[in-house]
Amino acid sequence: MLFQNDSTPLYSVELFPPKTAEGMDKLKLEIAKLNALGPAYFSVTYGAGGSTREGTLETVSWLRGLGIETAPHLACIGSTREQVRELLNHYRQQGIRRLVALRGDMPSGMGAGNQGDFRYANELVTFVRAEFGDAFHIEVAAYPEYHPQSGSPARDLENFKRKVEAGADGAITQYFYSADAYFAFVASCRKAGVEIPIIPGIMPITNYTQLARFSDTCGAEIPRWVRRRLEGYGDDVESIRAFGHEVVLTLCRHLIEGGAPGLHFYTMNQSGPTTRLWNDLELAIVH
Ligand code: FAD
Repeated sequence: MLFQNDSTPLYSVELFPPKTAEGMDKLKLEIAKLNALGPAYFSVTYGAGGSTREGTLETVSWLRGLGIETAPHLACIGSTREQVRELLNHYRQQGIRRLVALRGDMPSGMGAGNQGDFRYANELVTFVRAEFGDAFHIEVAAYPEYHPQSGSPARDLENFKRKVEAGADGAITQYFYSADAYFAFVASCRKAGVEIPIIPGIMPITNYTQLARFSDTCGAEIPRWVRRRLEGYGDDVESIRAFGHEVVLTLCRHLIEGGAPGLHFYTMNQSGPTTRLWNDLELAIVH
């Protein structure tokens, strides 16, 4: 299938759509720097309920205008089938061949009465396959430390498998800082008959307060020793970045040595931390 090559690791980068014109101008500069690394594709997040629709479309258009392989995210909760169909037709016209299909989380205040036609990501994958066949390579989300709303790891794995059975080609994980959690998750998937590539999502560490808040919400664990060291640096941004870089670099090395089929970098729209990792891992040589 298009894009899928088991022997070539896939290194990709993720952006989120800026909220302002000034943010967009800054992002364009970061895109140029990230593009120089030679990622397989850029993905662009999408707010559930269409909350970032315009920004996502603008960022995707900019990337496509530069001829860059782009994978828009599509968070289906709060959207109707018609809205999703329209968006996908638009992407098809732009030559988009890859999607990240998600349920998403409704932004606060948009939830009640705004559920839309989809409840879970597997329904979106089914819809895309039914309406667009194999026009898109579909990535879905995976959670090595399990999704915070899942009843149990076994239930979460069953639900992950539903997305694969609906037609997902690959998965990108939530970020994590324990390589063992990733390898154990992949092993459970293989045991359950899930064979698609599961690419680790990598979150560089640059700002402890932000990372801690984010991790609590999305259910990603920061190991106690890492947390304590980061807390200990207080406002010393340089030390946080230097230590964070070493932690994430070591994680990436373990993942690559252990056979991970690629890495997906959550750049947070900053080229610097991802570039340092990319260069120290010598990914340009592999890709
Ligand atoms: P699902 O796979 O639908 O799972 C959600 C929960 O429901 C899980 O607990 C699962 O076990 C359970 N579940 C799934 N299917 C069923 C079923 N059929 N019956 C019962 N229970 C079920 N969010 C955004 O808003 N925009 C983005 O662009 C975005 N990008 C992301 C990219 C990646 C790589 C990742 C890992 C996450 C991203 N997220 C994004 C966050 C994501 O939307 C949230 O984690 C959300 O809570 C779950 O989305 P999902 O697609 O994993 O949902």
